Amino acid sequence: MPTALWRIKLTIMPLKPNKENDMATETVFSKIIRREAQADILYQDELVTAFRDIRPRAPVHILLVPNQLIPTVNDVEPKHEAALGRLFTVARKLAAEHGIADKGYRLIMNCNAHGGQEVYHIHLHLVGGRALGPMLSR
Ligand code: 5GP
Repeated sequence: MPTALWRIKLTIMPLKPNKENDMATETVFSKIIRREAQADILYQDELVTAFRDIRPRAPVHILLVPNQLIPTVNDVEPKHEAALGRLFTVARKLAAEHGIADKGYRLIMNCNAHGGQEVYHIHLHLVGGRALGPMLSR
């Protein structure tokens, strides 16, 4: 099956660790969501999970992920809108709790190789706590 179709098929299935196909595309983020891998989880509800990045690039660096595996932004569908919207309301809450709301912060979501995506389970980076400079290096 072509890769694109294979991904679409997987994204319509809920995460189930005992399914061979799910295991093939799962990342460490699924294990963190299920609390099978260690992470500093700051927030979790039925749609999303937020945890500290293991290699923080700023004083505050939190990853917010949908609980359901969506590999890239290219795989997003209308049915994901509730979870993706929740990423932003939780990002707002965590930014306030970490005292970076007023000075500001950056939300980043990378897509595929040119976007610099390393982990193929979409995630919103919440980065702040210092001046972050220009958005892109030249
Ligand atoms: P990307 O480049 O895909 O947008 O970002 C992936 C992020 O995930 C990186 O900032 C990286 O440090 C973080 N990361 C990768 N593996 C782990 C892990 O096992 N635990 C945590 N907490 N963060 C991870």
